[in-house]
Amino acid sequence: MDEAALLTKGRQAIAAIVEAALRCPAGGDGSWDALLAELGVSGLAAPERARHLREGPGQSRGALLLELRWALDAAIAPFSQAMDDSWRLPNEVEQAVRDYVGAVKPKVTTSSIFANALASAATSPSRMTGAADAAAQRCGCCGAPRSDRSSDLCRYCGERL
Ligand SMILES: [Zn+2]
Repeated sequence: MDEAALLTKGRQAIAAIVEAALRCPAGGDGSWDALLAELGVSGLAAPERARHLREGPGQSRGALLLELRWALDAAIAPFSQAMDDSWRLPNEVEQAVRDYVGAVKPKVTTSSIFANALASAATSPSRMTGAADAAAQRCGCCGAPRSDRSSDLCRYCGERL
């Protein structure tokens, strides 16, 4: 296969996996587990999955972010390794996970917009500085707070921090 064909195959694999992840209810289902197994990926244990759903950045549907990234990494590996530009497919995986975060996050309702507006109206300059500090500690991909300093990967989506 030439470089262009490898890139195309890798992109098709990414698209197919994202589509499968989006079809699941929040946290995945049996068909997602089957896909992970096919890719040779061990998913999170059930209690970990529940914790990601409860404490993670929030998703109203779809397989978990971290498992999606693992699945994508596994799927592109054979293509990526055969390519001269080995960064191209990993870059596409990064983008696919970011797009996925946007696709599965819970819809913002009018009431939550009002709540946010009221909350920011009450924000003093010192509290705003605090907010900026907090933002610096958040994952640029999924927005989860960075709580584990022993790892340079986001615990919820696997993004390099
Ligand atoms: Zn993250």
